[in-house]
Amino acid sequence: MLLRLASFLIVVIVSALLAWLLGDWRWEIAAAVVAAVIWVAVDGWRASRVLEGLRSEPPSFPVRAGFWGDLSERVRRLMRTREQQTQLAETRLQEFLAAIQASPSGVVLLDEQGRIEWCNQTAAQHFGVDAQRDVMQHVGNLVRDPVFAAYLASWNYSREVVLNGPPGTTSGGGAHPLRLSVQVHPYAGNRRLLLSRDITALEQADAMRRDFVANVSHEIRTPLTVLAGFVETMQTLPLSEAERSRYLGLMAQQSQRMQTLVNDLLTLSRLEGSPPPPTGQWISVRSLMAQCEEEGKGLSQALTPQGHQFGFSGGEGVEVAGALPELQSAMSNLLSNAIRYTPGGGRIQVTWRTLPDGRAEYCVQDSGPGIAAEHIPRLTERFYRVDRSRSRETGGTGLGLAIVKHVVQRHGAELRIESTLGTGSSFSIVFPAARVRAAFKTPAVSALPAG
Ligand code: ADP
Repeated sequence: MLLRLASFLIVVIVSALLAWLLGDWRWEIAAAVVAAVIWVAVDGWRASRVLEGLRSEPPSFPVRAGFWGDLSERVRRLMRTREQQTQLAETRLQEFLAAIQASPSGVVLLDEQGRIEWCNQTAAQHFGVDAQRDVMQHVGNLVRDPVFAAYLASWNYSREVVLNGPPGTTSGGGAHPLRLSVQVHPYAGNRRLLLSRDITALEQADAMRRDFVANVSHEIRTPLTVLAGFVETMQTLPLSEAERSRYLGLMAQQSQRMQTLVNDLLTLSRLEGSPPPPTGQWISVRSLMAQCEEEGKGLSQALTPQGHQFGFSGGEGVEVAGALPELQSAMSNLLSNAIRYTPGGGRIQVTWRTLPDGRAEYCVQDSGPGIAAEHIPRLTERFYRVDRSRSRETGGTGLGLAIVKHVVQRHGAELRIESTLGTGSSFSIVFPAARVRAAFKTPAVSALPAG
């Protein structure tokens, strides 16, 4: 400012001095006035150019020198710094939004009136809203669930609420209707952050766990009640030696049943918790088949006086990669089911064959009662039984096929079940080609006796 004042005075004084040299004091005054007017006009013109430049879009800075040039330069630098800061803030905002978009939880930002300011795609799916179109719509108009409406209006958000998803929506495109856990967190005065979580799988797992515990309790309680009854009888009644030994036999049967159940439960939990079966451990299929044959014939004799007509074929010179105890248990399980559900005298064919595409199939076919089509998809569920009494009579726990399914999945194989009521059933395990090979000369790991 001082510089500007000095320049103005210099111009005026120099003009006056020049006029004084010309010799008349009136010229002196006139020159000073003219110089002042010209100075102001030039200065005003430069100022207007600066202003014009600043008004244009994008702003330009035509004046480079002098006071106005200096001012323009400072404005330009200030604007550039602001621009960089805004750009940085915008990038950070976009990164934050991208991170919230990637979240598996639904996130909705509500303004003071409860209108949607922003929501991520997950929230849009959870609540059936459109992340763009429904911005600034009141959330209460879009999510009509009365439980949600009451929760939102209560302003007490210490707990979360559980809601059904919009009609027709399922969790992850699966079969179960969507269930949501929603919680609101107030922030910045009366603004609200709404978080939603898909808890369908969690609720399903919880229901399954409850069912499982109820099933196990029921399975254990039944033999335990029978056992307790016999103990009481033996304690209270005078029994003959023959009666005592009959009761003890029945008691042994019940405790055996409980033991089998506990063993099957332990097998299942071991399968769930153990690392995947090895791919480099090769087992002789022949020895697996031989073990099945020995166990199967023994079981058949024990169950029916006339036994079954067995046929065993295939498996020579072939090896399969996997965990020996698991494979033996799955293969024996399928055979023992065929024996237990096929009446005495029935035919049971056990086959190992290599398929044209290099895969291999272990198949147990029986001439038993067969299974109605509606039961087939559920056979591998824990404790699912079609013929409950036959299962119990023959020592079944309802866990056999659940164990087989686990083993099959762990080996990358496939369990196929085909059955026709009144004709018989066929259960097969199809192993992937990578787990099957022709036996080498070196001796393979052989199947160990069960137990
Ligand atoms: P369980 O211990 O009861 O045999 P599984 O899981 O092995 O349990 O089998 C489930 C149900 O499938 C059985 O209860 C039975 O009703 C049916 N099932 C299994 N295998 C056969 C078969 N070969 N023939 C007819 N029914 C079968």
